[in-house]
Amino acid sequence: MAKIIEHIAKAKGKTLFSFEILPPLKGESIDLLFNGIAPLMEFKPPFIDVTYHREEFIYKTRPEGGLEKRITRKRPGTVGICAAIMNRFHVDAVPHLICGGFTKEETENALIDLDFLGIDNVLALRGDHIKSEGFFTQEPGGHAYASELIVQIKDMNAGKYLDEELRTTTPTDFCIGVAGYPEKHFEAANMETELKFTKLKCDLGGEYIVTQMFFDNKPYFDYVKRCKDLGIEVPIIPGLKPITSKKQLTVLPRIFALDIPQDLVSAIESAKDDKAVKQIGIEWCAMQSKELMAAGVPVLHYYSMGKSDAVKQIAAQLF
Ligand code: FAD
Repeated sequence: MAKIIEHIAKAKGKTLFSFEILPPLKGESIDLLFNGIAPLMEFKPPFIDVTYHREEFIYKTRPEGGLEKRITRKRPGTVGICAAIMNRFHVDAVPHLICGGFTKEETENALIDLDFLGIDNVLALRGDHIKSEGFFTQEPGGHAYASELIVQIKDMNAGKYLDEELRTTTPTDFCIGVAGYPEKHFEAANMETELKFTKLKCDLGGEYIVTQMFFDNKPYFDYVKRCKDLGIEVPIIPGLKPITSKKQLTVLPRIFALDIPQDLVSAIESAKDDKAVKQIGIEWCAMQSKELMAAGVPVLHYYSMGKSDAVKQIAAQLF
């Protein structure tokens, strides 16, 4: 097993294929997930990312009236799934580690679990806000920003745990990835601010960047150039997603604060049925992928959402 930056270095400029999956919904079998991964293995991904989903609040009506607030996690299992993927498919699995909902102590314990399981890669993120809350709140005793999480991971890589009185501390050896936003994170005041904090994450120990999905390559190329101009030297992995339904034309911009080019919007709006929408999404994403590959991107990283069909059709044209 290797670090993501080692996979990239070993490829010597050849573009690699990778993808992201979501843990199954609570109660679903892991076989469902494996069935979504297996068809993509022929394209030899050196790594697969597994997202982390924090707790949500749900409200149940009490028999006597009124509402009861309950906390639930709909997609638990990120760490276990990473180990299961590595065991089953012999590829590296990259768990997403978030600040939200974690105290520093809990983060340390999660990192110890990952280390014991032989997982040496993590994507360090702040995490989304709780769905029913419109903004991110730091866990008391936790981290407010991904940059703080990176510092904790780097400390553990240096053998520094939270309890300074520990006599024996084994240094961990995590390769740390961070998130980047070619079209700006929705909370950043402007692109300068965005890039300032992305640079901070890299200066503190982020070894590669994975971008938010985008549907126009130009903002990605501009972003890479602006990162380079600022002295960010790490590989910048583009994240891509084939649109598969008309609904995504409104859902994706709302959730991910991104633009969808008018040509793609028009084509999808005039598609006669769901099958035609999916085909347009696949063709568009394949076109983006080809241009990015020709430009020499290190990896093409697909947000598969656990469904392999569309990504497989794109990968088959490229890998
Ligand atoms: P940060 O880098 O901490 O930035 C958050 C915001 O704060 C930005 O606007 C930034 O400009 C600003 N900022 C940063 N540092 C400072 C500072 N020191 N002072 C003031 N402002 C600052 N979410 C999940 O919950 N689970 C996942 O598995 C997941 N996977 C993702 C994978 C990728 C590739 C990407 C791109 C995103 C993913 N997300 C995931 C979403 C992500 O958690 C959200 O976009 C979140 O709102 C920001 O995370 P971040 O790590 O980019 O945050």
